[in-house]
Amino acid sequence: MTARPQHNGSAAEWDDWRWQMRHRVDTVEALERYVRPTASEREAIEATRGVFRWTITPYYASLMDPVDERDPVRLQVVPQRAEVEPDIVGVVDPLDEGGHSPVKNLVHNYPDKVAFCVTSECAVYCRYCLRKRMVGDADFMMRKDELRAGLDYLRAHPEIRDVLLTGGDPLVFSDQNLDWLLGEIRQIPHVEVVRLGSRLPVVNPMRITDELCAVLARHHPVWLNTHFNHPKELTPEARAACARLADAGVPVGNQTVLLAGVNDDAETMRALCEGLVTMRVRPYYLYQAQLIGGTAHLRTPIETGMAIMRELRGHTSGFAVPTYVLDTPDGKVPLTRDYVLGRAGDWVVMETTRGTLWAEPNPLDGAAPPVHLPEVEMPDEARTVPTGAPRFVYGETATPPG
Ligand SMILES: *Cc1c(COP(=O)(O)O)cnc(C)c1O
Ligand code: SF4
Repeated sequence: MTARPQHNGSAAEWDDWRWQMRHRVDTVEALERYVRPTASEREAIEATRGVFRWTITPYYASLMDPVDERDPVRLQVVPQRAEVEPDIVGVVDPLDEGGHSPVKNLVHNYPDKVAFCVTSECAVYCRYCLRKRMVGDADFMMRKDELRAGLDYLRAHPEIRDVLLTGGDPLVFSDQNLDWLLGEIRQIPHVEVVRLGSRLPVVNPMRITDELCAVLARHHPVWLNTHFNHPKELTPEARAACARLADAGVPVGNQTVLLAGVNDDAETMRALCEGLVTMRVRPYYLYQAQLIGGTAHLRTPIETGMAIMRELRGHTSGFAVPTYVLDTPDGKVPLTRDYVLGRAGDWVVMETTRGTLWAEPNPLDGAAPPVHLPEVEMPDEARTVPTGAPRFVYGETATPPG
């Protein structure tokens, strides 16, 4: 077991997921129990207060290296000063999820499947979060009548066969509320499969109780995708949580975000993916980090991800290899030479699965790319981050001129 820090309650409390939620780190003083915060981290914690929420479960905090500020767990959840520096390409909603939401928090961007953000709460607030615009924000909390409006939408749309419950993190719901929600969805005859997107197996594995597993098993087929980013997160507690899910018949997948300094090298990614399959967790997607404002320091060139994929494919078990994708307003694009047409300066140009062209701002900043993409001209019809989308400026959002 990972060490339970002395000051952290009794063993029974430590193992209680609600205790973990109630005792989350959200002040510098609390953080000091786990690490020696640098001056820059202290500054960043103050500067991001009221801008993007900050909490860490005691369990996840206990995985951080106390002295190494480049620790891969620390980089994911402790604010960095770079978060508040100007980010010229970052935007608030790069996938235009707002524009694809017919009812509050329900993203319908594929004919047959939806992502239903049933809560804006999470256990920890990952600094690179795709939904930074909404997670931890009271305006995006879902009241029961708003959940019912989403359910009405599902009922009224027989083409929807796949419902992804996400957020935020749907496993912050009580067993009772989750049972109610899954039961409502299960009564919709055209919904064939329900899946959950949750980071709790990683950041609060105590949440995966036998009682929760019994609730999930009542509503099969239920799939779950979780979000491990680094082999350090594959602890005995996380392993036990994933085993309980698998034993309950829930196929568990993993969605990793490619993050600079955390997992952007082939050795780390291989250790992560091979470790996951020993836990019966199938690596599903490796995501190119999105253009979320204030996350430039965590983004990588697309060529870095492509080079990592070349070292995995054919060099480990086939089912240990995730699909490397970039999400766009026109759907997820596999970042392989089939779809990636080439590099036009600071942009990577690709064809989406819908046949449209997308240009992703992805500057190399003078670095030599580890694989070489053909140089292409920027096609006139290529779309890029939504025009007129608010630029991310810390503490405010501003529409760019033009
Ligand atoms: C990613 C995503 C899904 C699920 O896509 P899969 O490729 O089937 O995992 C569904 N809806 C939205 C809006 C998504 O972004
Ligand atoms: S758990 Fe998921 S939704 Fe929540 S902050 Fe992290 S990445 Fe965002």
